[in-house]
This record gives sequence, structure tokens and C-alpha cells, in this order.
Amino acid sequence: MSLKSICMEMGISPEVYDYCAAKEGELSERFREIDEIFEYNQIKVLRAMQEAKVSEACLVETTGYGYNDMGRDRLEEVYAKVFKTEDALVRSQIVCGTHALATALFGNTRPGDEIFSPVGLPYDTLLEVLGVREAKGSLKEYGVSFAYCDLLPDGSFDFDSIRKGINERTSLVTIQRSRGYSDRHTLSIAEINELIEFVRSVKPAVTIMVDNCYGEFIELTEPSEVGADMVVGSLIKNPGGGIAPVGGYIAGTKECVQNAAARLTAPGLYKELGPSLGNNRLLYQGLFMGPSVAASAEKGAVLLSAVYGGLGFECAPDTWAQRDDIIEAVTFHDPKLVMSFCRGVQRAASVDSFIRPEPTPTPGYAHDIIMAAGCFISGSSIELSADGPLREPYTVYFQGGLTYPHSKFGVMMSLQQLIDDGFISKERLSL
Ligand SMILES: *Cc1c(COP(=O)(O)O)cnc(C)c1O
Repeated sequence: MSLKSICMEMGISPEVYDYCAAKEGELSERFREIDEIFEYNQIKVLRAMQEAKVSEACLVETTGYGYNDMGRDRLEEVYAKVFKTEDALVRSQIVCGTHALATALFGNTRPGDEIFSPVGLPYDTLLEVLGVREAKGSLKEYGVSFAYCDLLPDGSFDFDSIRKGINERTSLVTIQRSRGYSDRHTLSIAEINELIEFVRSVKPAVTIMVDNCYGEFIELTEPSEVGADMVVGSLIKNPGGGIAPVGGYIAGTKECVQNAAARLTAPGLYKELGPSLGNNRLLYQGLFMGPSVAASAEKGAVLLSAVYGGLGFECAPDTWAQRDDIIEAVTFHDPKLVMSFCRGVQRAASVDSFIRPEPTPTPGYAHDIIMAAGCFISGSSIELSADGPLREPYTVYFQGGLTYPHSKFGVMMSLQQLIDDGFISKERLSL
């Protein structure tokens, strides 16, 4: 049986199959570039594991306080080598990306300090951490204030506002690499480098944190190699390779990491405590798979932009533009299309493919969100997934796919659903 006929038996029409295959055919040069970066990052991770002398004894389970957890300590050494930092905190006690970022922020600020973002408001869930949206226990309640400036309308840095925004109280500058649910672009490492140099020229002693969520292994280097004091991310995104069951990381200077550890465990306990439980093998193996999974997801995102861009929908980033994360955004200007798209992606899931997603209120987010996620790891957005906050301009964010064929199947199913629901006519697919 041919691939096309299996797909047809699974509900993909020949028109959708052929259209997507034709678009894919135009992408070989783009995919070759992605594979080159994948190969480099794979060897980078391998080298870090070899240099840290990861051994079978690192993979065993620890419990309780977790004193002398060799596997945990070496994993942190591996992360520090991969991100080229002095130290790292990599724990399954860090629940998610927001928790990792909150731990880094609380640990590295003191009452009276101000946090500044030169790239606009941060990711939705951080608004409550900062206290931009009222929340019990926010940084604001502890006397840490927050200020920001937006990018200029053309997407470049607003250097005048950044200079004015950094004052004598500014102790930490936070830079979000990925666009998140905003309409700005994702920053490249070159842009982050330029921004960090400028911030340092205004205030040399400030701590610079980069929210690295979704960005790991998409370029040859990471933000910690261009001057960030710490990079922070989630293990159920790129660096967990779809295998880590939970966790977050903070890689950075010894001081930043210790400050974060004081917050995660307790002052005095720092990194010494925290059992890895049975997770070490999964965290090592996940990191090892990270570059491959990130590349697969990135190829799926590129295909999505070619498919929907080819039909005249607004896609960001553009198929041929440099990419810096695994997310592709398609703007529909209509909530019904966002919902139909997500239902299509859900139909392509490995787990829960028969479920019909509905928009719901989600903790940390101000609007109802519709999410398509049928995952081995609950909520894992390195697995094939799509979500959209139900607000103007009705943009859906597509990401993930542990393998490229799965991501591609998700692209096809989303388009099929839009056709089945009557939002796109088959005739538009004629080549
Ligand atoms: C996903 C994400 C977060 C938050 O991560 P969670 O694991 O969902 O808490 C923060 N920042 C960015 C840019 C993200 O993409």
C-alpha cells in the first residue's frame, strides 16, 4: 500500500495530499539548512555528554533529599557545557517554563529592584508572576517593579526608549527570544547579541536573562554565548526531546544559578538537594534527542508556512526567512477557522485523536484558548500541537512534532479539516 493510500484511508483527500506534497517538494534546500544545524547541535550535545563522563551510574533513581545525586549533578554539568555557561539548574521539581522563569526572576531580584523588558510585554503567564496582572504572591507584592518598552513598528529595537527605560533601580533585563502569543517576530541570536551589547553599554552591571523557550537548538549558538547571564526554558519543549516527563532549566553564571537554587529549594540548601527520582535517564535521553526533535518540528513549521502561505493566508515567519523557534503562526481573522484548524491538528494526534477540542479558560492566560494536543506528555508543545487564544486577530500557533512525518501529517489534517468544515474549497488547491 502506498503512503498516499494510507493517508487517504485516514481521511486525507487526494487534493490535500498532492498539494502538500508539491509544497514539500519546493523545500529541499530549506530542509538541508535545517539538517546542517541539527547535525552540529547533535554533536555538540554528544560532546558535552562525553566530556562530563556520563555513565550508566548516572541513570539510576534517587529519592528523598537526593544528596550526592551524581546523575543530577552531571546532567547539570552537561547543560552548562551545551549552553556554555558556568553552571546550570536542571530539575524535574521545576514544573514548567513559567516556573523556571519565575524561579530565576524571584531568585535574582530583591525588594526595590526593577525588571525591564526591552522587547515588549512578556509571555502571558509571566504577567501574573510580575504583577502586571494582579496576582497573589507576584514580584510586585514583594516590591519588585516592572517596566518595558515595545519594539518599533518595523520590528527593530527602540534604542531611545530602552536607554530611558533602564534606570538606577533596574537590576535585571529580561529578553524573550520567541514571539510567544504576540505579533512581534522571534529574535535571532544576532539580534539578541546586538540588544545585549546595547543594554550593557547603558548599564554594565545589570543581570540579563533570556527566556529561551522554543528556541533551543534552532541556531548554532544559544543566547548564553552572546552575553546573557542566564537562559531559561522548559523541558517539555525543545531540550526535553519529547522524552523528559517534566522539568525546567536555568543555565547561567554561578551566581545567577545559585540565586535561583535558593528560591527553588531553600537558602542554604541550594543545588545540594532535590532527588532526580526516576527521571535522570529521561532527561539525558531527552536532551540527546533534543536537536533531532527541534529540527523535525522546525521542518513541520516550514511546511505549514509553505502550505498556508501558498493559499494566501498570513503566515509568520515566512517560509524562506531565517527561523529562531519552532512556532509557525497563521492568522485567520476568524475564530471559526482557528477552531477548525485546531480540530484538524487534534485528528492527527498520536493520543486522543478522537477528541474534539473546545475553547476554555486556561490558568495564566487572559483569554479563552483552544488547544489541540494529543500528547504522550500532558501539555507538551514539542509534540504536535496547535493553540490559539480566542482574540483578535485570531492567530493560531502551530508547533512540534516528534518526527517530521508526524508534523507533516498534522499540516495535512489541519487543511483537510478546514476543507471538510467548508472554510476552504478544494478548487483553491489546484496546482
Ligand atoms: C511556553 C513558553 C513559556 C511558558 O512555559 P510553560 O511551560 O507553558 O509554563 C514562557 N515563555 C515562552 C516564550 C514560551 O513559549
